[in-house]
Amino acid sequence: MAESGYLDQYLHELPPSTRNVTSAAMAVARLSELDWAPRGGYPGSDVLWPVRCLLCGWEGLRFYSHLRRARPKGRHAGCVPASEIADRLDQLRQGLTGTCPCEQPHAVTAEAFQETALLLGSAHADEAWDQALALAESLMGSCPAAGRRGRAAQRAFPRT
Ligand SMILES: [Zn+2]
Ligand SMILES: [Zn+2]
Repeated sequence: MAESGYLDQYLHELPPSTRNVTSAAMAVARLSELDWAPRGGYPGSDVLWPVRCLLCGWEGLRFYSHLRRARPKGRHAGCVPASEIADRLDQLRQGLTGTCPCEQPHAVTAEAFQETALLLGSAHADEAWDQALALAESLMGSCPAAGRRGRAAQRAFPRT
């Protein structure tokens, strides 16, 4: 497997430092709560990120720093009517879970997140790309428990 861009589906042109994987896990969590899906790896908070609106299927570019604050309020031109958005997001939140049901398990506790992030750093340094990819999936792949994992990430690597 080629080194360059091997993690692109999780981190866009960012090294897999504990800080970056924590930011990415928190961003994926926030997007899932707001019914957006990433169409590429997390690029950083103030870089345009290709995303899909799961309320209607619209695809475009958004800054995570704006999405995080649920801006713009109207999501994007042509989305479902504003009166429906709150109901749809309520329904969505009821479907989110704290349990990871995935075949390849995700790191949803602080302990697991911390350990997996450190292993990813080692695998990356050792150029063990296949192993690093599997670890990256555990930390940043999509999961119905992404919200819980995002909170675990925050506890594992608190921001000073
Ligand atoms: Zn939309
Ligand atoms: Zn999962």
